Amino acid sequence: MTRPFANATARTVRGEPVIELHAASKTYPGGLTALDNASLTIRQGELLAIVGPSGSGKSTLLNLMGTLDRPTAGSVEVLGHDIAKLSDRRMSAVRARWIGFVFQQFFLSPHLTALGNVATGLLYHGIGHSKRRERAAEALVQVGLGHRLGHHPHELSGGERQRVAIARAVVSRPEIVLADEPTGALDSVSGAAVVQLLRDLNAQGTTIAVITHDPQLADTLPRRVRILDGRIREDTAAGAAT
Ligand code: ADP
Repeated sequence: MTRPFANATARTVRGEPVIELHAASKTYPGGLTALDNASLTIRQGELLAIVGPSGSGKSTLLNLMGTLDRPTAGSVEVLGHDIAKLSDRRMSAVRARWIGFVFQQFFLSPHLTALGNVATGLLYHGIGHSKRRERAAEALVQVGLGHRLGHHPHELSGGERQRVAIARAVVSRPEIVLADEPTGALDSVSGAAVVQLLRDLNAQGTTIAVITHDPQLADTLPRRVRILDGRIREDTAAGAAT
């Protein structure tokens, strides 16, 4: 079902597809096929790992799932929108409204406090300054950083920085969080805390895909999609045909 852009409060129903790839491929200019004929359905409420070695096509897959790029063959639907058929502007609107991103390198602004960084996650949502800060504070409390609102990134540990980045990703209450190697820059204790936080967010209803080259992390998540040389080789979802 296609989600209207305007109805900001609409939530999908648990188990409803939120991302669907139908025989999606991505061939880069120059001829390298980084994703080859991939079919995948991610449903509301899932927590899954997309796992594979470096260069296997995980980021390419993330870019398609996150509407950062379009497939060169096949189709990708996000909440019912076929992204190949959307203008750049509409694709950005789908991304801003429905998807939160978490990256290995955090990408926090060094000049903003934790509160300011998280509030930037609401910049294009038509929400006024004081409401943005109120929502940002709530999100930071949710990730266990209610006591760090006024700290700058350099005053925070790596694990705390990633939690700020997660708060920024979820402050707009997205349907889907795509986390690209979220523990890659962290020690094992901070990494475990970040994974637990993602689990908690999932338990509250957010659909989460974690891209990782770490099989140990992947093995702790309920569903694993294994990718190698641009092809999905294994999918532990019930009924997945790979
Ligand atoms: P992973 O995230 O698993 O490390 P990537 O999706 O980044 O894998 O890359 C898959 C393959 O596609 C690699 O061979 C990589 O060099 C190639 N690739 C990625 N991005 C581009 C691009 N923009 N142009 C050309 N080749 C690319």
